[in-house]
Amino acid sequence: AMADQGSVLITGGGIGIGRATALAFADAGYHVIVTDVLDKQGEAVVAEINAGGGAARFQHLDVTDSKNTDAVVADAEAQFGALDVVVANAGIAHRVPLAQMSDEKWDHTFDVDLKGIMRVARAAVPAMRAKGSGAIVALSSIMGVAYGWDEHVHYSAAKSGVVGLVRGLAVELARDGIRVNGIAPGYIRTAQALSEEHSLGPAGLEKAAEFIPIGRVGEPDDIADVAVFLASHAARYMTGQTVVVDGGLLVG
Ligand code: NAD
Repeated sequence: AMADQGSVLITGGGIGIGRATALAFADAGYHVIVTDVLDKQGEAVVAEINAGGGAARFQHLDVTDSKNTDAVVADAEAQFGALDVVVANAGIAHRVPLAQMSDEKWDHTFDVDLKGIMRVARAAVPAMRAKGSGAIVALSSIMGVAYGWDEHVHYSAAKSGVVGLVRGLAVELARDGIRVNGIAPGYIRTAQALSEEHSLGPAGLEKAAEFIPIGRVGEPDDIADVAVFLASHAARYMTGQTVVVDGGLLVG
């Protein structure tokens, strides 16, 4: 695809949902700035996009680092002008029972999963505002909407915070032509979900398929396609929403 739809910056774009999102935006004709703390994986996604005729570049971006975030966004803007789309996808989900919940573990989850979204939005919004257009898509979770998960109170709380951040930012930026929406994925087959230590693991994911109405666990591109939609003209009258994409889990 010709990269003529504008530019998109994706955090945590090296693996999982972020990687699928980078590929989907490239297919949709965007110039993709893949960012991650995982340099090798991010570079591999960029190589894959460029080999397929798309346009992408990699930048190291740790969403807990304001300076790093500001510099990467400024660098992208120097090249492309205001970003058209930001997908704030970077996230961590560590299993920690309340008894072992240190202040540090709690704060680190909030720093990545919630404050990291604010940081990239704060960096990208001024140029979007000046241009009068832009779209921000943030990753929440069904755990932030209507689903509990034991040993993940910090994660559930941070992901609930994303739903509020999306609402607040949407209202604050609507008159500047900037739309802000969230995605709340259900169980998606990624490294995070496949980790026995921090999530369901492979066997747990297979079992989950039995109680998910659509009858399978989600794949990263099930989420990526929704991110492309939310950023697109097709979603021009949507803002402040967090869309559940879970194969019917919450309603089943
Ligand atoms: P993943 O673990 O496969 O990928 C997460 C990405 O975030 C990785 O590339 C990782 O390097 C990056 N990351 C972590 N800390 C970072 C930091 N400080 N700065 C920059 N990048 C950082 O996870 P995934 O399953 O692809 O999840 C992507 C998003 O979707 C996350 O926000 C996650 O919470 C959310 N989510 C996933 C599921 C699921 O079932 N997989 C369900 C609901 C929500």
